[in-house]
Amino acid sequence: MLLFKNISYLICDPFKVEQDVDLLIEGNKVARIGTIDPRDYGQKLKILDGRGKIVMPGLVNAHTHLWQSLLKGRRDDLPLVPWCEEVIFPFIQVLHERGRLDGSREVSYLWSMLGALEMVRSGITSVIDMDLGYQANLIPQAWFDLGMRGVIAIEMADEWVPEQDSSAIEQEKENVLGLIEHWHRPWEKDNLIQVALGPSAPFTCSETLLAWVKDQAEKYGLGVQIHVSETRWEVEQALLTWRKYPLEFLETTGLLSCPVTAVHCVHLTQKEIDLAKRYGVIPVYNPKSNMKLGSGVAPVKEMLEAGLEIALATDGAASNDLLDSFEEMRAGAMLQKVSHEDPSILSARDMLRMATFGGAKACRIDAGIVAPGKLADLVMLNPSSPHFSHFGPDIVPALVYCAKASDVETVVINGELVMQDKRFVTIEEDLLYKEIVKAGRFYAN
Ligand SMILES: [Zn+2]
Repeated sequence: MLLFKNISYLICDPFKVEQDVDLLIEGNKVARIGTIDPRDYGQKLKILDGRGKIVMPGLVNAHTHLWQSLLKGRRDDLPLVPWCEEVIFPFIQVLHERGRLDGSREVSYLWSMLGALEMVRSGITSVIDMDLGYQANLIPQAWFDLGMRGVIAIEMADEWVPEQDSSAIEQEKENVLGLIEHWHRPWEKDNLIQVALGPSAPFTCSETLLAWVKDQAEKYGLGVQIHVSETRWEVEQALLTWRKYPLEFLETTGLLSCPVTAVHCVHLTQKEIDLAKRYGVIPVYNPKSNMKLGSGVAPVKEMLEAGLEIALATDGAASNDLLDSFEEMRAGAMLQKVSHEDPSILSARDMLRMATFGGAKACRIDAGIVAPGKLADLVMLNPSSPHFSHFGPDIVPALVYCAKASDVETVVINGELVMQDKRFVTIEEDLLYKEIVKAGRFYAN
């Protein structure tokens, strides 16, 4: 059992903040909030001092590609399609050509751990990772070893892929089924890992592949994540090919009857927004990636007005380049304000909801708010620094506009301490980091 004692600010959700309160965790859930006497629980209690601190729901990064953690700081002058051709595809080729680095763990474990370390240090407790099929079993293994929650979806495509023969997609399907067999155990209460299906985008997948995805999603009860309407080019292609906008096309495939998270949704029409609402699609807003690749500005105002639950995400580290939801919240709010020339368009509370509750919905987990019975995925920050000095009555805008990843001190995931006072308690970070740097030099040079 864990007891946060004397928390100065407990952010239960964007509209409910409690002050000077205790919080008890039993098993993997929040058990009680109020005044709690540790003597009632005896020796089995570990106490964390919350004086002067903020405790909040863990942040959720609802879309990334962790393998790109080895590709930070690359080209910043290319739109999506040439960026894939010049940055993304060559790295995948190198990976297959070079094989395993002598004396090292598989690189998929290391890139996954690198991303997970960065995310937990940034207060992210859960992620949806659309990753490569290369040694894919080891990607969630890194999260499991660290104690992080995550959803793994192998990114699948059988069209618009360089030099791919038909056997490649069959191999990818095998990889996906292997992952499901190895990791998908939703009936286990303490399971940190889920598997989802990750068809890359409508224009990169044949209708045969999308039908296969739908069948597996129904058979195993899985969520589906897919990039939708990221660029204007994609929309033009959709209209040329199907005479439909991308989400309208997806409706014709039947895929929208599955639990779908639609990544980007930058160029969604009002009709598609209404369609998303009808099917319960969760759009995933990636403001920094959309800015860096020059993709455009997602219609967040219209999506919120339609009543959609939106999740927030960083996208991969090659197009961001940080896996940091605090930066993403700020960037996401400011991008909307400037593009509408209206500062009232999107509030700090809207952004916090996307980064917590919306993300939890996207992950299909009962978290994202702090309340008894909810999963104990919590973050404790120390606001005692010049950049976070706050003297007003409302802590939420200060949190969204001032907090930095470096303010995160302690992270609890699924009721377990993963990081305490900025030190990971589950792994040897220094040793792992040395191995990651070696692998990064070997593969990404
Ligand atoms: Zn993506």
